[in-house]
Amino acid sequence: MGIFDLSGKVAMVTGASGGLGQGMTLALAEAGADIVAVSFSSCADTVAKVRALGRQAYEIQADLSQKEGLENVVARALEAAGRIDILVNNAGIIRRTPISQHSWDDFDDVLDLNLKTVFYLTQLVGNHMVERGSGKVINIASMLSFQGGINVPGYTASKHGVAGLTKAFANEWASKGVQVNAIAPGYMSTDNTAPIREDKERTDSITTRIPADRWGTAEDVGGPAVFLASSAADYVNGHVLCVDGGWMNR
Ligand code: NAD
Repeated sequence: MGIFDLSGKVAMVTGASGGLGQGMTLALAEAGADIVAVSFSSCADTVAKVRALGRQAYEIQADLSQKEGLENVVARALEAAGRIDILVNNAGIIRRTPISQHSWDDFDDVLDLNLKTVFYLTQLVGNHMVERGSGKVINIASMLSFQGGINVPGYTASKHGVAGLTKAFANEWASKGVQVNAIAPGYMSTDNTAPIREDKERTDSITTRIPADRWGTAEDVGGPAVFLASSAADYVNGHVLCVDGGWMNR
């Protein structure tokens, strides 16, 4: 495994119960990392799969949109696993409504989890990494870190913000041995995109634009996550890596 080896590292992954979070968790575990799986919904399936790979897995069930609970989440993670070497800020939600009807509550809910929690958690966990002089943070951005999207103004604002935060943290922490980068997935088949996939016309128009000619899967983000979590990415700072089958090039 060499430069991609994560043996002895602990990765905390938010939103690890399924979807892309589970895909990245399993790839990190396969590369050798022990896992702290944090999510609103149960991570029992992910934890079982990590243990089947022979790694340690700890589960923390928490609503990460409540900032009052975040210090406690980090304290529990550190108590369980001893340290956090890799933080994957993956938990996210999306609310789809045309802008004219987009409620302020929906806008706030999406910004709270997708953007503000990324700042709070990265600061809380990252401060330990800075003290130690090493660590990797991987934020999950989106094509809507670059584009406007349709019916998802809060989501677009949050994901543009995630790209900005990634660069802001990277600038301050690159010299302290902590690499902060992002993965921007394209159209991936998960619960998040299930409503779009119910609309065949929309699905077909999206697929036609993807050079790889297919939607992505949870496994597709695993390799990029391992790369950004490993020493292979020690000189990669503030990068937003598109994992999109070529969507952004078209
Ligand atoms: P998903 O809905 O399958 O998974 C979301 C995860 O976040 C789940 O584990 C869920 O329990 C967790 N979560 C939701 N609200 C939470 C809360 N309040 N507190 C704690 N955990 C919470 O979605 P996914 O497609 O796997 O999305 C994962 C990330 O990837 C998100 O940030 C999403 O915006 C991003 N993304 C997805 C796509 C895609 O096409 N699926 C594309 C670009 C970016």
